[in-house]
Amino acid sequence: MKLFAIFGDPVSHSRSPLMHNSVFRALGYNACYTRVHLRDGTKLKETFFSLKLSGANVTVPHKEEAFRACDEVRGFAKSVGVVNTLINENGRLIGYNTDSDGFMFAIEEFGEIKNVLILGAGGTAKALASRFAQDNIKVSVLNRSEARLSYFNKIGCEISSWDSYKSKNYDLVINTTSAGLKDEELPASKEMVEDILTKTSFVADVIYGKLTPFLSLAKEHNITYKDGADMLLGQGILANELFVNKELSLKNIKTHMQKSFEL
Ligand code: NDP
Repeated sequence: MKLFAIFGDPVSHSRSPLMHNSVFRALGYNACYTRVHLRDGTKLKETFFSLKLSGANVTVPHKEEAFRACDEVRGFAKSVGVVNTLINENGRLIGYNTDSDGFMFAIEEFGEIKNVLILGAGGTAKALASRFAQDNIKVSVLNRSEARLSYFNKIGCEISSWDSYKSKNYDLVINTTSAGLKDEELPASKEMVEDILTKTSFVADVIYGKLTPFLSLAKEHNITYKDGADMLLGQGILANELFVNKELSLKNIKTHMQKSFEL
């Protein structure tokens, strides 16, 4: 039996085991997917191999550490330096990123988006900003601190920290910070978030499974919003395809993973 896992801190909230096990069970694939609570990201590679994993997903806060841990990084992950999917290929650790395509799948229903504000400057923000830039979508990034903004400047995004924030109009604002994940915080001061919400058509949060304070405020302002569930589904389908090395069809993976969201 093949063993897969998700590494994160926190990780108990993760729906990934349910999603992947639903596919494996329904399609008779001999595999099992579990959670690993990993505090020290530098231990990722040794933990992966000591557990004899065939593959894994990586979540907050280890995605950049996962990039460094890989023997080889392929595709989109290479340009962003952020890995959310790991594959054991003959004892070598191969890294991929399926988050950004998963997110594009999630926002299809909003129609054409030309101008995006990303809140946060972590691994998820990097992946999304680079993916938007690929489609010539204009990206601005707002983070509480300066340190992580230089990457976004280099790839042509407009950047600001809370101190230098200036109010503008956007088609879509995305919260990629972990504010609201295990606390009841907004991704910036209430005043700043309220200003942002009055100047956007759509709002998305990458956190799923709860109405974050950010989405709750968007709801109060009658703005169309969505949480991170569809992004989670999108990245999961693509990760599962990598786990089974295309032995299962994408269509079947999608059908059964989607069903796990009804449980
Ligand atoms: P990182 O740890 O790489 O980055 C976190 C970012 O959030 C940083 O920019 C940090 O700012 C900011 N931040 C953290 N706490 C606060 C706060 N209280 N107020 C304001 N800003 C804050 O995280 P990831 O990018 O890996 O993940 C971010 C979130 O995305 C997580 O909640 C994760 O669960 C979710 N996610 C969901 C996915 C899905 O499929 N739905 C997929 C991927 C991620 P600073 O630089 O100042 O520290």
